[in-house]
Amino acid sequence: MGQRKASRDGDRKVGRRALLIGGTVAAAGSAVLARDELARLWWRTPGVEKPREAGAVDYAGARWVAASDANWRRADRPDDFGIDMVIVHVTQGSFDSAVKAFRDPGHKAATHYIVRQDGHVTQMIRELDVAYHAGNRDYNERSVGIEHEGFVDRPQDLTDEMYEASARLTARICARYDIPVDREHIIGHVEVPGTDHTDPGPHWDWDKYMRLVRRARTSPA
Ligand SMILES: [Zn+2]
Repeated sequence: MGQRKASRDGDRKVGRRALLIGGTVAAAGSAVLARDELARLWWRTPGVEKPREAGAVDYAGARWVAASDANWRRADRPDDFGIDMVIVHVTQGSFDSAVKAFRDPGHKAATHYIVRQDGHVTQMIRELDVAYHAGNRDYNERSVGIEHEGFVDRPQDLTDEMYEASARLTARICARYDIPVDREHIIGHVEVPGTDHTDPGPHWDWDKYMRLVRRARTSPA
C-alpha cells in the first residue's frame, strides 16, 4: 500500500484545488465570489486542515491509542474522499498484539478501530485519515476499517459482546456518512478486490451482525 504513491496523489489534489480557486477568482470579477473564495483560502495553505485535537475519538465509546503514522495517510475525509464503506477484519492474534502491530511503523497496515472480545473499542486512526487495511488503495480511501480480536478458524473467539459492540460502532459510522446498512457497503476484508486475505472467515455470522447493525442504526443514539 504505497506510501510514495499516496503522497504524490495528495500533491496532485492540492494542485487541482489551487488551480480551480485561481481560475474562479480570475474569471468571476465579482466581489461576492471573491469574498467567498477568500474565505476558503485555507484550502491552499499547507498543513491547515479540519481542527484536530490530540486524543480525540470519532466514536464516543472508544479509547484512543495512536497508530504509527507509517500505517496510515493524512487526509480530510469525507471532503477529499467520500466514505461509503465499512470493512470488517479479524486480527488473527490477540487484541494486544494487534495494538502493538499498528503502533509498529514496520507493520505497514492498521485499521481505524479494534474491537476486543469483551466489547471494548480502541480507535487508533481518525476517520478523517486513510488507514492502510484493505490492501486496495481505492477501498482504503473510501472505507473505515474495524478489526475484531480472534482467529478466523476459532468460532468461539467471535463473542456476542464483540458482535454487539462492533455493530453499535458500525451503525454510528453509517449514520455519520449516510452509508446504507447492507452487504454492498458493509463487507469483509475477503471481499475486497485483489486481496489474498480471508478474514473475517467462515464463522463470522453476517446475518446476525447485519441484524445488530440495523437494530443499532434505528434505535435512538
Ligand atoms: Zn483483514
